Amino acid sequence: MSKIAPSAGAKPGTVFLVGAGPGDPDLLTLRAARLVMNAKLIVHDGLVEPAILAMARPSARLVSVAKSRSRHTLPQEGINDLLVREALGGTDVVRLKGGDPFVFGRGGEEAEACRAAGVPVEVVPGVSAALGAAAAAQIPLTHRDAASVVSFVAGQCKGLTDQNWSGLAGVGRTLVIYMGVATAEAIADKLIADGLAPEMPVAVIENATRPEMRVLRGSLAALASLVAKNKVKSPALIVIGEVAARDEVDVRAIALEAAK
Ligand code: SAH
Repeated sequence: MSKIAPSAGAKPGTVFLVGAGPGDPDLLTLRAARLVMNAKLIVHDGLVEPAILAMARPSARLVSVAKSRSRHTLPQEGINDLLVREALGGTDVVRLKGGDPFVFGRGGEEAEACRAAGVPVEVVPGVSAALGAAAAAQIPLTHRDAASVVSFVAGQCKGLTDQNWSGLAGVGRTLVIYMGVATAEAIADKLIADGLAPEMPVAVIENATRPEMRVLRGSLAALASLVAKNKVKSPALIVIGEVAARDEVDVRAIALEAAK
């Protein structure tokens, strides 16, 4: 929680927690685009595309608080304090995050810190990676013939064994795993130990909605080798369930056809 107090009488700026979507700038909401184009100060994650940041005014101040699994540029507390300090100084802050701010984006923590300091907060939703990736790879997350439930989980190593995923994956259900490529092997082992069939289809979608997107398909038992052989890197999502094997389409061929 922030220890910064509002200065008497000054009207604080608003902190806008804005979803930047999965990459393609066309997937910004109009509200997000308008905020980015008018911002004086943008505090952004590493996942936000340069093309989106390029929409800001030349005079806008851009502050990166990029985090990577191994290297923390600014701890969460430091980000919260930065947002609060700027807002209490009277500046509106556009806090730009990949995907949606409230899906594995720590938006909840930032909103709490702002509210605790008396700073007004607005949240602008974004296309979360699961939705962007599913659309780009043409994998329906639900389908009347294949899945009526969809769950989003985080697969980063910390806490993986403590998470209870039983019942989230299986026949008629789709499981989407964020931040799971580094722990793909442990994830497959965990799900198979929970009773999931080793032949359950999986899809790995890397850099969804960006020009360099790749969609790889296989079975749960082969997930770790699929990731390793193809040298899949973050950001990537893992989709597990029957939908991952439906109507396999060559999305790259479609994109090339559309571009003609
Ligand atoms: N708030 C974000 C998620 C942040 S967690 C959202 O709603 O999408 C970061 C994880 O999101 C990455 O490790 C990856 O699993 C996923 N991700 C983000 N952008 C992605 C993209 N373009 N393609 C595939 N996965 C992506």
